[in-house]
Amino acid sequence: MAKITILGAGITGLSIATILIQQQSRDRSRSRPPHTITILARDLPGDEPSQRWASPWACAGWGHDVLINASGIASATLEDVKDSQLIVDRTHVVLVKSKFDGGYVHRGPGPYTYIFGRGDGTAVVGGVSEMPQNGPTPESQIHQDLFRRAFEHLPQHFPSPDPANYEIIEHLEGPPALRPATGVRVERVEINGQKIIHAYGTTIGGYILSFGLGLEVARLLEEDEMKMDVPN
Ligand SMILES: Cc1cc2nc3c(=O)[nH]c(=O)nc-3n(C[C@H](O)[C@H](O)[C@H](O)COP(=O)(O)OP(=O)(O)OC[C@H]3O[C@@H](n4cnc5c(N)ncnc54)[C@H](O)[C@@H]3O)c2cc1C
Repeated sequence: MAKITILGAGITGLSIATILIQQQSRDRSRSRPPHTITILARDLPGDEPSQRWASPWACAGWGHDVLINASGIASATLEDVKDSQLIVDRTHVVLVKSKFDGGYVHRGPGPYTYIFGRGDGTAVVGGVSEMPQNGPTPESQIHQDLFRRAFEHLPQHFPSPDPANYEIIEHLEGPPALRPATGVRVERVEINGQKIIHAYGTTIGGYILSFGLGLEVARLLEEDEMKMDVPN
């Protein structure tokens, strides 16, 4: 089995690790030796949300056999990756005082709208996505848009379209990565003899896609192992 480094501890990196560990239990019953998995990340679960990674926002000198690149938007700037297809957009949501404790998603005609009660007297109302080249939209305009939609979809819980009638706790600007031309990148490459599996570009669906992405990475790894004889 291989020594594997996963770069990234967002939902993608952690899901890949989970799938690999699950598969190891299965393989152990077939008496195959386990992988050694190392997760290397700048930002970890529990750290403060920042613009540098996406996962907290939703409701190397490796020396190892395989490096899994699950670094999200950093793949736009990482040396040896510098993916020019990776366009970073801005997503805005607000955290507002609200007794709403359900979940609501509208997908269809009109903008994608989601409202999630957090069970602590607050709710997340989202979202507005804008491309960086369009320049920043004034916060007041974003609030008007969000509360107009909240009123339209859930008037019993958001009885006014006017932001002035709500207690906004925080305006959050998140950084999902967009890869519009080619979609999510799950691909095996080799750079200077280092085997790399890329797993990034999930844009607004990183949680939804995470286990599928993990399974695909595991499949690529297994395919690779069949080709090479890795020392234990
Ligand atoms: C407001 C908002 C709402 C969303 N809602 C949903 C939703 O409801 N459902 C859904 O499926 N998705 C949602 N998303 C999208 C989802 O959050 C992302 O698709 C997902 O989090 C991407 O995860 P990731 O692990 O690929 O990247 P990230 O979470 O960005 O993680 C990248 C990891 O790589 C590490 N890293 C990067 N560069 C380096 C470096 N140089 N050295 C070391 N470590 C590095 C970071 O520290 C981090 O650990 C939402 C996004 C936003 C902004």
